[in-house]
Amino acid sequence: MQDVNQISDAIASNLFRVRQSIADAARACTRSSDAIRLIAVSKGHPKEAIAAAMAAGQKDFGESTTQDALPKISQLANPSIDWHFIGHLQTNKARFIPGNFSWLHSLDSLELARKLSRRAAEQSATINILIEVNVSRDPKKHGLTPEALPDFIEKYLKENFPALPLRGLMTIGPHAAPEKEIRACFAGLRRLRDDYQRRFGLKNFTELSMGMSGDYIEAIQEGATMVRVGTAIFGERDYSK
Ligand SMILES: *Cc1c(COP(=O)(O)O)cnc(C)c1O
Repeated sequence: MQDVNQISDAIASNLFRVRQSIADAARACTRSSDAIRLIAVSKGHPKEAIAAAMAAGQKDFGESTTQDALPKISQLANPSIDWHFIGHLQTNKARFIPGNFSWLHSLDSLELARKLSRRAAEQSATINILIEVNVSRDPKKHGLTPEALPDFIEKYLKENFPALPLRGLMTIGPHAAPEKEIRACFAGLRRLRDDYQRRFGLKNFTELSMGMSGDYIEAIQEGATMVRVGTAIFGERDYSK
């Protein structure tokens, strides 16, 4: 059993290393590292681990279930933190998002948008929305197919959800695939964003949430504006999600 200080030191130095490699990757493709937001995925880790990352200057955190996240969010009670919901969200959990999370990376149905919109309006909250796209067509993954996306965006805009600004797209790269396949997935998401930003004239539809511990360098090279990194910062989780 490591003590709390050792764990805090490890998290701070992991964060430093990840930030450094983000900066290196950005520089290598002449992007500014300011254009890449690091989301520290703290699912499966205790609030002490999150506090250690906060002390090391981290402001964006990702969680993928409401039951794991909500106690930590309320116990840490830090208004300068942006919480990102990155997991699949069931519609009956929509009520937990406004007021707790400022970003949702995993929108995949209009029914969920309607529920979120109603709950957000009740609380005068805004939730920045990313649509999850299953670019790699993995039957085990959530998200819309690339083909379903234009129709979905059209309907989303038509229904008009003022509390849910549409900010971009999210994908999960293919697991343990050759680098070429991983890059093709990320490049595909980028093309979808570029196409629909233009087609629908969406000025703020700019975000690309892609890249995790194993592939965030490739994601940055393919244009990621948000990378979701858990294990490389916090170490192994004590359960798998
Ligand atoms: C868990 C998770 C991550 C982080 O994965 P690591 O491999 O631990 O970096 C990123 N995105 C999503 C959607 C996740 O569920």
